[in-house]
Amino acid sequence: MRLPGVRPALIVAHPGHELRLHGWLEIARPIVLVLTDGSGASGRSRLRSTAGVLTATDAAPGPLFGRLTDRALYAMIVARDAALALRLVDELAAAILGHRVDYVVADALEGYNPAHDLCHVLVSAAVLQARRSGVRVPQLDFPLAAAPNASPSRRGSARLDLDEAALARKLAAARAYVGLGNEVERALALYGTEAFRVERLRRLGEPPCTVPPEDPPFYERYGASQVADGQYADVLRYREHFAPLAAAVWRSAVDEEPWAASAS
Ligand SMILES: [Zn+2]
Repeated sequence: MRLPGVRPALIVAHPGHELRLHGWLEIARPIVLVLTDGSGASGRSRLRSTAGVLTATDAAPGPLFGRLTDRALYAMIVARDAALALRLVDELAAAILGHRVDYVVADALEGYNPAHDLCHVLVSAAVLQARRSGVRVPQLDFPLAAAPNASPSRRGSARLDLDEAALARKLAAARAYVGLGNEVERALALYGTEAFRVERLRRLGEPPCTVPPEDPPFYERYGASQVADGQYADVLRYREHFAPLAAAVWRSAVDEEPWAASAS
């Protein structure tokens, strides 16, 4: 059942993230917006798998559902393509306002995957943009790299403990999901099934943080090792690529008047 009058939105970088909040999906029935199609290096979209999860949980796909390939999102960050990023912010803000969303849940900024971190920044900017239209929407996040039951350090966070039946449905949905390869089994082996009984939605501070917990973040160190092995030509770097793009998005989101910078 959906809480009366409450319309949440889940906004994630990749199809499959929704599995982490399967119990909450069943209860809250959010609209779900997904930035990429999850095609990764394989080139095969995971959107059908996620559409199946949403149908089974009575959640609904939102107006933006797999807009970019993973390669296009990666290229947008490397090219610091603020114009494209800001179009996505506009679309997210329009969805928040148009669907009269009451609260937004999005990927956490963990320094693990640049697409997750960018999703976090774009959603934060869209929430600020909605506020400029007079609509205040709380933003919460959930971890994808950290343990699902890791303790939150923020006030206003929510915790859901799934009962046996809900946990069983969640594990069955994750194992039946086509396109995640061995990621599901790896996560279950790493944390144990019991960890996935807990779902945490963590309230963001104000203003929301746009800086990863480590500099350089994990993805940059991992990328550098891949390049050293000769597997990739270039590394996506936080200071060179991500931070300038995030700053450009942020400047646009927090400026009261977009033309103020050129007026001085
Ligand atoms: Zn992901």
